[in-house]
Amino acid sequence: MEKRSSKGGATVLIVGAGPAGLVLGNLLLAAGVDCLIVERSSRAHVERRARAGFLAAETVRVLVGNGLGAGLLARGRTHGTCVFRTERGEFALRYGSLGRGEAHTVYPQQDLVSDLVAEFLRRGGDLRFGTPVSEVGGLDGERPWLMAHGPQGPYRLTGRYVAGCDGRQGTCRQQIPAGEVRAHRRRHGVSWLALLVGTPPALPAVTYAVHERGFAGHMARTPSVTRYYLQCEPGTDPGSWSETAVWDELDLRMRAERFGPLRRGPVLERAVVDLESDVLDPMQYGRLFLAGDAAGLISPSAAKGANLAVMAAQTLARAFTTAVHEGDEEPLARYSATCLPRIWRAQEFSHWMIGLLHAPHGDDEESRFLRALRDSRLENLRTSTVQQHSFADNYAGL
Ligand SMILES: Cc1cc2nc3c(=O)[nH]c(=O)nc-3n(C[C@H](O)[C@H](O)[C@H](O)COP(=O)(O)OP(=O)(O)OC[C@H]3O[C@@H](n4cnc5c(N)ncnc54)[C@H](O)[C@@H]3O)c2cc1C
Repeated sequence: MEKRSSKGGATVLIVGAGPAGLVLGNLLLAAGVDCLIVERSSRAHVERRARAGFLAAETVRVLVGNGLGAGLLARGRTHGTCVFRTERGEFALRYGSLGRGEAHTVYPQQDLVSDLVAEFLRRGGDLRFGTPVSEVGGLDGERPWLMAHGPQGPYRLTGRYVAGCDGRQGTCRQQIPAGEVRAHRRRHGVSWLALLVGTPPALPAVTYAVHERGFAGHMARTPSVTRYYLQCEPGTDPGSWSETAVWDELDLRMRAERFGPLRRGPVLERAVVDLESDVLDPMQYGRLFLAGDAAGLISPSAAKGANLAVMAAQTLARAFTTAVHEGDEEPLARYSATCLPRIWRAQEFSHWMIGLLHAPHGDDEESRFLRALRDSRLENLRTSTVQQHSFADNYAGL
């Protein structure tokens, strides 16, 4: 198909080809709204960047309902159980048959991104890789613009709207004048060593281990790749753990001696993630609209980030479509108010999960208090049916 936009601009200029920007772009093309995407990194880089893996049922409905779900339907796996291991033993929650009865689909984010890129191009979309945006302007007026730096040098793009889908470290959120949005932020004081390991999942379910030495987690990704998390000291250099130290610590915290061994194998990728949350309110300024991590970060404790990004992209696509085809900007004006209650509900649950899985080690009064609180929370989850149904709705829902 022919490219729909010239180098000079498009009705909607989208910055960033992550889940938010790519879902938005695909939905706009399907609705006949002219758009283009500029992405800082190369195609190979965005299609290899391993991050999320757990897609909520609502996310899957949005993707499948808009012709973006062929890959996840073919290769994703349904997952409806999680297991908690503590010093008292382990218990499983079959959340896929609790609450609303919804499960996750496990499908690596890089595979989803690859599918979305392919579909955007197939629909005739204009996607410019290797093109960082350094500045966005004219947001108060009719013709906002952005400065893109392509392989042949810098050029200016103009449009009617700008969608900032460029993640937490992106340019767009920084262009909003001070005082125009209120930031809400929490650093949780907890860090995870996030590991991608080249072995099949060792356990049949997501497993959260609460241990006196810190949290450890096991999550399936594909039949040959598993994600593990190890709580570590904030500021840890990810390279400071040898592979033997990683596996010994995972064995210890996952209590392999008691529950069975893990499958050791090569560590393919490692990064330290500081658990941090922030929310911008509103998520828009003039003709700039933020979606996904650009509008706010959520700690990975409840696996909501990519899901919230897809939901915001859907809301924004509908609002742009109404503005462009019907001349009605009311849904755009309400964009933040539509998204924020969902975002805050996810933030609240994610924050609760941090308290379920972590507590300080110290022997001071406050550390002891927080540990007892965490243990009581786990016990409540293990024994209370009401709590289990509520957990299921929040864990798999949006
Ligand atoms: C280790 C880890 C595990 C996670 N696990 C889960 C999970 O299981 N479930 C879940 O839902 N979420 C999870 N997340 C969160 C999830 O990955 C993010 O929330 C998601 O990627 C957000 O999508 P996005 O499109 O908003 O931003 P991103 O995916 O960050 O995409 C933004 C894009 O913008 C580009 N960009 C940035 N700056 C510029 C610029 N100046 N010009 C042009 N382009 C630019 C970037 O290169 C990038 O491609 C996890 C995150 C991490 C780190």
